[in-house]
Amino acid sequence: MKTISLIGSTGSIGKQTLDVCRKHGIRVNALAAKSNITLLETQAREFSPEIVCIFEEKHYAELKERLSDTKIKVLCGMDGLCEIASSGKHDLFVNSVVGMVGLLPTLTAIDAGTDIALANKETLVAGGKLVMSSAAKKGVKIFPIDSEHSAIFQCLQGNKREQLRKIILTASGGPFFGKKKSELKNVTVEQALNHPNWSMGNKITIDSATLMNKGLEFIEAHWLFGVAPENIEIVVNRESVLHSAVEFADHSVIGQLGVPDMKIPIQYALLYPERFKCDVKSLSFTDYGTLTFANPDFETFDCLSSCIDAIKRGGAYPCIVNAANEEAVGLFLKREIPFLGIGNIVRAALEHFGEMPAETYSYIIAAENAAREFVKENYTKIK
Ligand code: MG
Repeated sequence: MKTISLIGSTGSIGKQTLDVCRKHGIRVNALAAKSNITLLETQAREFSPEIVCIFEEKHYAELKERLSDTKIKVLCGMDGLCEIASSGKHDLFVNSVVGMVGLLPTLTAIDAGTDIALANKETLVAGGKLVMSSAAKKGVKIFPIDSEHSAIFQCLQGNKREQLRKIILTASGGPFFGKKKSELKNVTVEQALNHPNWSMGNKITIDSATLMNKGLEFIEAHWLFGVAPENIEIVVNRESVLHSAVEFADHSVIGQLGVPDMKIPIQYALLYPERFKCDVKSLSFTDYGTLTFANPDFETFDCLSSCIDAIKRGGAYPCIVNAANEEAVGLFLKREIPFLGIGNIVRAALEHFGEMPAETYSYIIAAENAAREFVKENYTKIK
């Protein structure tokens, strides 16, 4: 049976990853979390990893004290995440942290020649070119955990990549589907956090309400599957039952369907290529009766257009829109900007910067920092 290391273990994907490990007897070599030491301690006592890491260094002493009766090595910070990524004591490195912080551990795992199960979309959005070329050089496989990319990955099994014509990336449309900008002016944090189909962490739930999430996934799909932006189509499936589809040269379309539950893509990434029983409901078409499809509204959900423009422009633009969005979502959650301010900030950042390179980690970080600074200095004027 496999051994994994998991960073981001106390988040939504992390907890479900451990459910899959528990069910299928997958060993856990290392666990890492941002700040939730109570849950991290509980997880550590259950799974007995060799290493745990707490990202926020202020919690390090307390976590070390709490685990002092065990043999578990306690680490902290980015150094800790990278020590886990490079340890080599696992078959699979599972990255489910939120945000740009996931990029360096991913690159470190690739350097160590370790296959990766990736839920951290910012890794590919900001560093797609670097990550994919490094992975190819090292022969490292990247298994997507995101439901859409897992669907595409599943649809491609047994088919030839060069015969792939188009990716059909599905979107739920989020809680504000069908609304126009004039109706979204006064959206509250609580309304934006109320997603109709998926239960997720705060950052990604806001990203789903603005459709930024779909924009990030568009960029991610481009890098993961080597498909040009012109050949990726976004379609809204309100029920989140069709998780994405692919069209081949002969116009045959293959889709992956199932109930909206992240355990299916997580388990597929962890156990690939095996398919064992998964603790989710079986899909009943007649329960749904109808599946509906629609085009996304690019004007209202302008984060989506900004992301597509960013990947078409190339270079560091995807990194810039991603970093600007992280800042903007933080400001919205602190109630410092209105909901529509997020899209305005992302677009302003995209238009503000000239071309910047993104071939190395330091270039990517420079672009990220520049975008964050731009938002911090200008958001009161943009909102
Ligand atoms: Mg997704």
